[in-house]
Amino acid sequence: MRIGVLAMQGAFREHIQSLEALGVQGVEIRHANQLEGIAGLIIPGGESTTIGKLMVEFNLLEPVRHLAEGGLPVFGTCAGMVLLARDIIGSDQPRLGLMNARVQRNAFGRQVDSFEVDLEIPVLGEEPFHAVFIRAPYIEEIEPPAEALATFKDKIVMVRQGNLLATAFHPELTKDLRVHSYFLKMIG
Ligand code: GLN
Repeated sequence: MRIGVLAMQGAFREHIQSLEALGVQGVEIRHANQLEGIAGLIIPGGESTTIGKLMVEFNLLEPVRHLAEGGLPVFGTCAGMVLLARDIIGSDQPRLGLMNARVQRNAFGRQVDSFEVDLEIPVLGEEPFHAVFIRAPYIEEIEPPAEALATFKDKIVMVRQGNLLATAFHPELTKDLRVHSYFLKMIG
């Protein structure tokens, strides 16, 4: 099984390492023809405006949207969460726009650029998940079939909508592989 990791910009190498630690091959995606045969796709953290622009430039936005609409499991972290959301508050930047979610970018404020917190994520079991947030977005509102899987200070920071998964934090920056395992289970 091969999982594509969008490699326009941002933390794609770390995702490939997490996949490899789970015994799964991660392949860097830079062109639409590389999407062929992948079982799932990860959109990494980074800068969502840059990643979105490059997806337009490299003609990846439409093919990825088409595959995701057809059921391809897609997992977005941080900037990837922004790119999956239908509404981005105050921005008309390019996006996939597939999740019934309204996202606020850089949502935790300037003073707290980055922070780490032990999050309760019931779908991962009882042990809290050590979550790393870096200029993170949060989701202000979702509509079914999107469902919140984790919240922090009443804000949604992990969400699933069918074949789509998004986290505001960076599970690829920790050794805990449970979020990636959860995504692999979605692939089946
Ligand atoms: N704030 C960034 C954005 O909106 C995301 C930051 C990140 O991915 N670590 O693109």
